[in-house]
Order: sequence, then C-alpha cells, then structure tokens
Amino acid sequence: METYQVVAVIGVLIFICYLFFKNKKSAQKEINNLNEIEYVSSSNMKFDDVAGNYEAKESLQEIVDFIKNPEKYSRLNARMPKGVMLYGSPGTGKTLMAKAMAGEAEVPFYAVSGSDFVQVYAGLGAGRIRNLFKKAKKSGKSVIFIDEIDAIGKKRMNGNMRGSDEGDRTLNALLTEMSGFADDSGIVVVAATNRIDTLDSALLRPGRFDRQIEIMLPDRNARKDILNLYLSKKKAKQDINLDNIADLTVYFSGAMIENLINEAALLAIREDSEDINEEHIKKAYLEILAGSEKKNLAENSRQKIVTSYHEAGHAFVSKYLMPDSKVIRVSVIPTSKGAGGYTLSTPNGSEVVTKKRIRNQLAVLMAGRVAEEIFFGKDNITIGAQNDIEKATSLAVDYIAKYGMDDDSAFVNLGILAEKLNIPLASVEKSVKNLAVEIYEEVINIIENNKEKVEKIAKMLIEKEVIHEDELISLL
Ligand code: ADP
Ligand code: ZN
Repeated sequence: METYQVVAVIGVLIFICYLFFKNKKSAQKEINNLNEIEYVSSSNMKFDDVAGNYEAKESLQEIVDFIKNPEKYSRLNARMPKGVMLYGSPGTGKTLMAKAMAGEAEVPFYAVSGSDFVQVYAGLGAGRIRNLFKKAKKSGKSVIFIDEIDAIGKKRMNGNMRGSDEGDRTLNALLTEMSGFADDSGIVVVAATNRIDTLDSALLRPGRFDRQIEIMLPDRNARKDILNLYLSKKKAKQDINLDNIADLTVYFSGAMIENLINEAALLAIREDSEDINEEHIKKAYLEILAGSEKKNLAENSRQKIVTSYHEAGHAFVSKYLMPDSKVIRVSVIPTSKGAGGYTLSTPNGSEVVTKKRIRNQLAVLMAGRVAEEIFFGKDNITIGAQNDIEKATSLAVDYIAKYGMDDDSAFVNLGILAEKLNIPLASVEKSVKNLAVEIYEEVINIIENNKEKVEKIAKMLIEKEVIHEDELISLL
C-alpha cells in the first residue's frame, strides 16, 4: 500500500507553472486553552454516515456490540480490545468512524487530540490524561477518541529522538490508564494517526491498541458511495454521471470529495441554479485542483506564448508516454493559485505503480521546461517550472531511496541505512541527480523528434487558450 500512498500525493497529476508569485500570509496564531480540552458529545453519527471502508465498519461493529452487550463476551471470557488504532491518510474518515461508533453504541464521545498533551508545564499532559479517563469512567460506557496519537506516542529512536521526558510521562500515563480499567467497563479508546510507522511499539502491544485497522483512500466504488451520500444531502440533478466523477477523483480522500460537492453547491448558488449539475462538479473540480482562472490574459503576450509551449510539452509527453492516462484539460490562462497555466491529467487508477510508470511521470514533469529550452533556447528558460521541479525531486528521491529502483541502490532503503549507521545521505544525492539528468535527456529526445507536433499543440493553445482530451487526440 505504501506505493499507493505516495502516488496519492502525486495523485492527480497537475503541473502548475509558477509564473507569478503570491505572497502567502500565514500569520496563524495558536491559542492554548489550558483548562478544558476534551470535547464531550453524544454523537448522532451512524455507520451509514460513513461511506466505503466496509471491512473497518464490520470490525468496529463488533466492538459496538461489545459495548452494548458486555455480558455476551464475558460469558466465554473473551477479551475485547481496549484500544483501537485507526490509521491511514488524512481525511479518510477516521474521526467520522470513531464518532459513528459512539453513535451506534449510544454512549458519550470524548474527543481529544494528541497535540493537546504536549507543550507547556511539566506534568500537565499526564494530568490531563488522568483527568480524561476519570471523567470517562464516571460516565460509565463511552468512546474516548485520541486524534493525532503520534504527537504523544512517537517512537524513541537512537535513544533520544523524542527527546522529552515530558512526552514519556504523558505516554506512560495513557498506558497506565488503559490497563487500569476493567475489560468489561464498556470504555473503548480509539486513536487515529496518519503515520503508524512512527508510533512507539509500546502503544501497539496486546492490552493496548491491539486492534489496528487501516482506513484507506476510497476505491472507485467507495468514491461513488461518498458522492452519492453527499449529493443526496444536497439538491442535485438526477442525471449526474457518478462514474465520470468517480474516475476524475482517483486518489481523492473522503474529505476531498465532500469538499468537492460543497464547492459545486456554492457554484450552483452563485449561478442562481435550481440544483447542482455535473458541470458544477466539474468546474469545482478544476477550481480545487488548479485554482480559478483569471480572465484577463494579455493577447499573445510573451508570457502566454512561452506558457503555451511549456504546457504543450507536458501535454504531448503525457500522451506519448502514458496514452491511457487522461489529459483532461490544458490551459494557459493564469489561475488564482498563481500558476501561469496547467496541464491536468488523471492517471489510470487501476495501473500498477511500476518503475516504468514513475520514470514516465518524471518525464512528463520535466517536459514543460524541456519544451521551453528547445523552442526558446537554454538561456531563455523561465521560472515556470518551479512546481514541476519540486514534484520531480520528491518523486526521484522516493524512486531511489524508498523503492530501491535504481540499479545502484540495490535492495536497500537508504533512509534507514543512513539513520541506523548515522551517516550522511550523500549517495542519494548523487543517484537522484543522475536519474534526473538521464530522464531529462530522454525528454529532450522525445520533444526534438516530435517538434512539429508539440508546436501544433502550442499554436492551438495560443489560439484557444484551453484544450481538452478529444481535441488533443484529434490534433495528434
Ligand atoms: P480523518 O480523521 O481521517 O482525517 P475525518 O473523519 O476528519 O478524516 O474526515 C473529514 C470529513 O471528510 C468528514 O467529516 C466527512 O465529511 C468526510 N469524509 C471522509 N471520509 C468519509 C467517508 N468514508 N464517508 C463519508 N464522509 C467522509
Ligand atoms: Zn510545468
């Protein structure tokens, strides 16, 4: 599954070319509330409010049954897990699932976040944990939900990676409390993390969070379920083709799909439309991934021409190397996210992530810059490839250090190697650069040999500003 998570990040390939920069004002202030940090509610969520995740729901249903009928289990002296660890990508519905559990069992839901327990005064974290359990025990049966458990339960590496006794104390308090309540108390602790691999193994031992359930990104069917769930809660046209939208949203999380439908609803309202239609959803999709397009493009400016060649490079190489991934839209209209243009394509979701595929993705990412270089000369390349370079670098590092796909790196995870031996990662740097140079040269060849075709796409872009999959195919 590891590979899928990474691909999820690359996800829907979107090549944004930064020709403009925007100042990001990230003046976020954190306020620490030192008093009450747990939120108690009676959850009215049910498993029906969670789409997909069929296996996880089944597993949790059993625990719900245990909370409701503990005597059924004590009859055979069966021990139910005291703790359940939900792990998986952000926005996949872990919190929702825990709430639904409390709702199904009809017990109070105590929600805290691991990050509430780190910081400030000595002993405060541990004290908060004890307090939380005291309250939960008073209310009898309940579900305690600890989000971001990794904040208190990080692995101790080389003796001192976590480096704080305070963290240890908080973690120990949690473990003590968990072994402190009776098996049939009807209290279940549910924790969530995006990174189970970083957790201290003490947390995962029997009697602690010994039931571990992966909550995965929704597959195609689950995406349809989630779409259905949220569309049915809003006023939507009956003829929306859910298969189309499910295809578009490969590697979307449940939270992203929920947001997509909400944005579509806002668009429909802005247009004074009776209900949400498929066009609204598609428009919202583009806005989420690429930003809204600014319609004030100077006619045939130098900028537009360069961007057209840059995007033509991405689009051509994408179709050339990965004919079955869809190039949904190529645009040279600047967007509100600061991109000068973009090429949006969805990968074929059922394809296995192979070495070849990652190399192709790297090639597509490089193709914008390569086109600029070939058509305008080495000295005239622009800053438009900034985002492409970021993505390509991170993908190339994974190729070498994580997946061991380089001939030189053998069957070795270089990150672990460097950490265990406490040595610098110099060899990765060299391998990554070599890989980048090798693929860059391949892309130069592809574009040199297909110059007229790339130019055709560029000219069409200069004229039309936006082209779609079908136009691209008939052009080629
Ligand atoms: P996590 O805890 O895994 O980060 P959340 O449970 O907070 O994710 O999900 C955020 C929101 O996304 C939910 O409140 C819900 O609206 C939506 N969502 C995510 N996954 C699902 C799902 N499987 N079914 C329905 N809604 C979902
Ligand atoms: Zn680009």
